[in-house]
Amino acid sequence: MSCLNNSLQRSDPASVDFESFNLHASVMAGVRALGYSVPTPIQSRAIPLIMQGRDVIGLAQTGTGKTAAFVLPILEHLRRNPRRSVRALIIAPTRELTEQTCEVINGLGGRTGLRGIAVYGGVSMERQVQGLRSGAEIVAACPGRLLDHLWKGTISLAELEVLVIDEADRMFDMGFLPDVHSILRCILHRHQTLLFSATMPAEIRRLAGEILHDPITVQVDRQLPAKTVSHSLYPVPQHLKTNLLKEILDNTDMDSVLIFTRTKHRAERVTQQLMRAGYRVASLQGDLPQNRRQAALDSFRNGSVKILVATDIASRGIDVLSISHVINYDMPDSTDAYIHRIGRTGRVDKNGDAISFVTSTDADKVTALERLLGAAPERVTLPGFDYARPCPDNDGRRSRWPLRQAVGANRSARRSR
Ligand code: AMP
Repeated sequence: MSCLNNSLQRSDPASVDFESFNLHASVMAGVRALGYSVPTPIQSRAIPLIMQGRDVIGLAQTGTGKTAAFVLPILEHLRRNPRRSVRALIIAPTRELTEQTCEVINGLGGRTGLRGIAVYGGVSMERQVQGLRSGAEIVAACPGRLLDHLWKGTISLAELEVLVIDEADRMFDMGFLPDVHSILRCILHRHQTLLFSATMPAEIRRLAGEILHDPITVQVDRQLPAKTVSHSLYPVPQHLKTNLLKEILDNTDMDSVLIFTRTKHRAERVTQQLMRAGYRVASLQGDLPQNRRQAALDSFRNGSVKILVATDIASRGIDVLSISHVINYDMPDSTDAYIHRIGRTGRVDKNGDAISFVTSTDADKVTALERLLGAAPERVTLPGFDYARPCPDNDGRRSRWPLRQAVGANRSARRSR
């Protein structure tokens, strides 16, 4: 067993370009097909190390280009010696992330002859078995369904050469670490291991210490939202959130907008309210069957629907470059969740707006957010919006919302959008 090595790569290699990695022409064709011209910092730092065969810990949040940082070296390594068996495995916490990773594999690897498949629960096992039998060499999988395949003998990891554990901290949050350990017990031979995580809680540090050999850590701007995102808070009473949402949707120039709610139930309710008001909107939450989740994502991705209402399940798996706005209909539970939600906008070189609705019960979350950002985000009240409208449940009694007591109202800035 090797210990977690403390060698940490922080400095940016001077002006690295994709050519300097000496990737094969078939891999470079994928880079061009996806329109990447310059490697992102995590790619500049991680790709050369992974290509040398090192075990790597990548401390990078979503939106940094971390997927291509491990997919490109995997493609480069596997293309040399095709075997038609599973040789690279990426374990990821959600179906959406698994699908997205698989799309990156097939997008970048389109000219290499290598194929990736996604393996996750909630859909037929049979199709996945066929995909595995037909010679996919790279598998992106959620832990539970992967274990089902291992127990049924429909997947073999006997020839595995590269293992990636992606979003390890999220995997831990979602209670998947026992499953991950069970999977690891099925891989008995030496292989290269890469572990990517936005944060490094003690459990992940321990896991890394157990499974990585002499790893090198590469880190990019951890735990800070992308600089391309602007943040603002919209104080509002709970019962007026949907009205405020409609006001913003009607009066703001947006490419596409991702709206986060705290619960699945609320995601459905807000979706219905917006639909009734005539908006084209899709919803993405964990109670939906996989085909409806996929349809929602596809319509959002291809631009036929510009508004997606989602729970946190969506905050890690949505890869849509043109999301101009993220709206936190409900404040997320932690700053970590905030980073992941707003990581959906302002992606690689694009600007984005993060709007958070805050009620008087969100004071602690706002304080934590201010600490994270190192500054108080702008507080916005919309001119002309009736913040004193009574709650419909209130039997017609006009309960005036105490604007002055709302979070940060004393500092509230008026801004018309
Ligand atoms: P990820 O952090 O892997 O989820 O990637 C975030 C987004 O950045 C995805 O839409 C990628 O397609 C995109 N991306 C990754 N690498 C690059 C690059 N070098 N140049 C431009 N976009 C990139």
